[in-house]
Amino acid sequence: MRPRVQNTLKTSVTFEGVGLHSGHPVKMVLKPAPAGHGISFKRTDIVLGNTVIPARWDMVERTALCTRLINDAGVSVSTVEHIMAALAGCGVHNALVELDGPEVPIADGSSAPFVRAIMSRGLHRLGSPVVAFEVLKPVTVEHNGAKATLLPSDRTRIEFHIDFTDEAIGRQSKSLDLRNGAFARELCDSRTFCSRSDVETMQANGLALGGVPGENAVVFDGETVESGSGLRHNDEPVRHKMLDALGDLALIGGPLIGHYVGERAGHALTNTLLRELFATPGAVRAVICDAVMTARLPGQGLIWSEIPAEIARVA
Ligand SMILES: [Zn+2]
Repeated sequence: MRPRVQNTLKTSVTFEGVGLHSGHPVKMVLKPAPAGHGISFKRTDIVLGNTVIPARWDMVERTALCTRLINDAGVSVSTVEHIMAALAGCGVHNALVELDGPEVPIADGSSAPFVRAIMSRGLHRLGSPVVAFEVLKPVTVEHNGAKATLLPSDRTRIEFHIDFTDEAIGRQSKSLDLRNGAFARELCDSRTFCSRSDVETMQANGLALGGVPGENAVVFDGETVESGSGLRHNDEPVRHKMLDALGDLALIGGPLIGHYVGERAGHALTNTLLRELFATPGAVRAVICDAVMTARLPGQGLIWSEIPAEIARVA
């Protein structure tokens, strides 16, 4: 039996904010989409040519600090990882994400506002089974002391290890089975972070112009933390890296059935890993989920009342 649980949004949802790197104001509208559509972005501020950008690994333009998608017409959208993580973690398989600017709004630096908006309105079931991507062979990529690996598994598992010189971060490791509501409970509220020294470098290069420490990013400086009202988790940085990984892995085109291991990895390396996965013969296959596999999918069966109160009530 193949449960027909492909989902989309019940209604459109609008967000207004600024892009983290561009600092530009932007309006984003999440819209329902039919079964088989997947996730795609559309630039409504551009009138000529192809303005739709499929959320797919082969549309990623190499970038160090965020994930940027670009289509054949040169139309791009930046910083897609947090909204992609929210959609994947809530089990939204189909959506059209309209933007009137070049970058997804950063909100509070986490995926929690997106999860809250999506789940408070509920999901609409489309009557088709879910197509997932199953890892069949181990694949590893390495670059500059960072490493990313995909291993066969019977579920979505994300494992991450980080090691920062800032004492307030230090070494952190976490591994999580992403089934059902694990993303909403454990990862979605962990915020973007960086070191104080990176802020000056990024802003000198015209990046992080919309960043406000404590408001939409956590800034670490040695033993000091600029985080607004404190960290949301003691290991908030590694949780955010896992959030980013889920968002970047969602560019595979559907739920991932596999075990991802990131060691100091970033957006570019995770994308290189997906490229290597598809370049390796027999390493991945699309599979129509049976009942057992469906029950283990991220977001499967998640309902509003399961969203933790501190995430549900944040304005
Ligand atoms: Zn991030």
